[in-house]
Amino acid sequence: MSTENGFPMHTFRCVCHSKLFFGNTNCVSCQRTVAMCPACRQVSAMEELEDGTWKCLRNGCGQRQRFCQNRVEHAACNWGVLFEEKDQTLCTNCRLNQMIPDLSVPGNLEKWQRLEAAKRRVLYIIEAIGLPIGMPDQEELLPLGFEFKADGAKPVSTGHAGGLIVINIKEADSVHREQTRVEFGEPQRTLVGHFRHELGHYYWDLLVKPHHLEAFREKFGNEESPTYTEALQAYYANGPKPNWPKQYVSAYASMHPWEDFAESFATYLDMVAIVTTADHFEQENQRFESYDFDELLNAYREIGIMANEFNREIGLLDLVPEVFTAPVIEKLRFVHTLTG
Ligand SMILES: [Zn+2]
Ligand SMILES: [Zn+2]
Ligand SMILES: [Zn+2]
Ligand SMILES: [Zn+2]
Repeated sequence: MSTENGFPMHTFRCVCHSKLFFGNTNCVSCQRTVAMCPACRQVSAMEELEDGTWKCLRNGCGQRQRFCQNRVEHAACNWGVLFEEKDQTLCTNCRLNQMIPDLSVPGNLEKWQRLEAAKRRVLYIIEAIGLPIGMPDQEELLPLGFEFKADGAKPVSTGHAGGLIVINIKEADSVHREQTRVEFGEPQRTLVGHFRHELGHYYWDLLVKPHHLEAFREKFGNEESPTYTEALQAYYANGPKPNWPKQYVSAYASMHPWEDFAESFATYLDMVAIVTTADHFEQENQRFESYDFDELLNAYREIGIMANEFNREIGLLDLVPEVFTAPVIEKLRFVHTLTG
């Protein structure tokens, strides 16, 4: 596995040597303005130039940039836009939005800010592990898009179709999300979890269907029989397959091979995010490409056991609720082969 950007960083250093976090817009120690620099892909201290543009102060970078319009106007982003991209006002993440919530409705700005924070975090890891993202102005790749919508006359379902990910903004309301989580028995219903799952559907369309369909069917089953509609009806009538923990990473994964893939994909991203975070704090310059799949899985299991015990001690949910049976491991290994 190789990645152009290398190891996904989880914390960064300001020029004053204080730690900077992924969502920061200012250094809490020296008060400097900071941003995620699109060139060095680190949250860095920025210097304002006379013409109102900014320069990355990271050693060896110095990239000139403007700040994403969603940061300037709505505090919904903390990324920069390359100065060379003259006709762009939005960063590469915000450019993917096809619809944002109605900001004249009280509470929607805060929900949108939470959605963007989760989206940025997930896309950052996606890029670091070498998965392609179809930008709206490209033609070679299926363009990826996001719509953040509220229930209106018709209820909005969170889901993916043809590159477009729709998220119901009430998912950014923690009371609603917790109720739904308990109702559907989902141990990990979170905003980042939604993005990871729906992106799994996107990568099925983008990578699996055209290039890996045979290998997919060997591990996940034939997605054409039963059809998705038949599988959905059966799931809501009868619930998950009995014995699902033997074959599937979650109850919902047993619904249909597409959901199985999306759930496996989301779990794989959880695994990468958690293991690289742990290693980052141990050894700041570890590179993602040095992991093979078995090392990644073993590290995740070990961290999972420890973190679950911490969480149980104070009554929080398990960090790693999944059980990794042999068929589940083979599915995760399949996802691993798609990266880098
Ligand atoms: Zn500082
Ligand atoms: Zn930079
Ligand atoms: Zn942005
Ligand atoms: Zn799904």
